[in-house]
Amino acid sequence: MARIRYRDQLLTLLEHESVLDAMLRHGFPILHSCKAGVCGSCLMRSATGLLPPRAQAGMKDSWKLRGYFYSCSCIPESDLEISDTGADTRTEVTIASLRLLSGDVIQARLRTEEPLAFRAGQYVTVIRDEVARSYSIASLPDENELELHIRKIPGGRMSGWFHNEAKAGDRMTMVGPSGECFYVTGHEDQPLLLAGTGTGLAPLYGIVRDALRNNHRGPIHLFHGALRREGLYLVEDLRRLARLNPHLQYIPAVLKGDEADGFVQGPIDSVILTRIPNLTGWRGFVCGDPSTVQTLKKKLFLSGMASRDIFADAFIPAANPS
Ligand SMILES: Cc1cc2nc3c(=O)[nH]c(=O)nc-3n(C[C@H](O)[C@H](O)[C@H](O)COP(=O)(O)OP(=O)(O)OC[C@H]3O[C@@H](n4cnc5c(N)ncnc54)[C@H](O)[C@@H]3O)c2cc1C
Repeated sequence: MARIRYRDQLLTLLEHESVLDAMLRHGFPILHSCKAGVCGSCLMRSATGLLPPRAQAGMKDSWKLRGYFYSCSCIPESDLEISDTGADTRTEVTIASLRLLSGDVIQARLRTEEPLAFRAGQYVTVIRDEVARSYSIASLPDENELELHIRKIPGGRMSGWFHNEAKAGDRMTMVGPSGECFYVTGHEDQPLLLAGTGTGLAPLYGIVRDALRNNHRGPIHLFHGALRREGLYLVEDLRRLARLNPHLQYIPAVLKGDEADGFVQGPIDSVILTRIPNLTGWRGFVCGDPSTVQTLKKKLFLSGMASRDIFADAFIPAANPS
């Protein structure tokens, strides 16, 4: 069995046990959230030992070289000597403003002390009172603030705090940015499909504006789905953006309700495929509820979109919400 040395203690891992689970089993209160190698909150550093590639998947090269790894995804085959990460992996942020975008979605704009390199569509993990949650970035880097769209979840620790208690000037810690769901220049004529439900719009709102800012010439179709009309937000902004950019089509879709006022009725996957049955040659971005993202990825692929052209972020809830 592999062993880990941490703060002068030698811990033996159980078979197939991750470093994070072993540390928690031994009573170390290691911060964690998704337990899926996504949020980055359980980041640790290894001084010696061989790290399995999965423990560093998606990480920037400079961090890999310095021995950082996600402890939730690390099931080592040999002994490791590990430590907590330093302050250099975390950023201090201040809430610049808060604004309701709909009945249950709040926009939070966060300001960093130092300029932060990020791409619209990536996500950050904010940490407060030992609770870490990831949120997608809706803003563009030159807006100098991180814009997040946070849906209120009943009983939700982080979203509840943002909706009920947070105020401008409050400070938090943040990990990231992370993720690869963002616009890349180079194929400006390629048709783009952006689809999401609920706050899955947050990364798409950033990506669509990034594509337009980079003079994307191909058609862009943005589908935003919700159960009812009240679940859609930024509708007027997006309609205005589509009027200014004739190659952008914005299609708000509702599951319940009629087709009045330009809202299409039906499940988002059917709405997309009715309009664009053949997606060969398209690039796609899908974000939001994990099961919708999974369904969409499958259907886009079966309709001709190459898997290398599908970029997705599933909003996986925390593994340990309470
Ligand atoms: C990469 C990534 C990006 C994300 N981006 C966004 C974003 O841009 N905007 C956004 O609003 N969220 C986003 N999320 C989800 C977010 O990280 C939190 O999971 C969410 O805000 C709930 O956290 P909470 O602390 O409020 O609720 P918790 O305290 O974690 O959960 C409270 C209770 O609600 C349940 N629950 C949690 N989530 C849901 C849900 N979606 N539906 C129903 N029940 C739920 C839990 O199981 C628990 O019982 C993203 C997640 C990931 C992994």
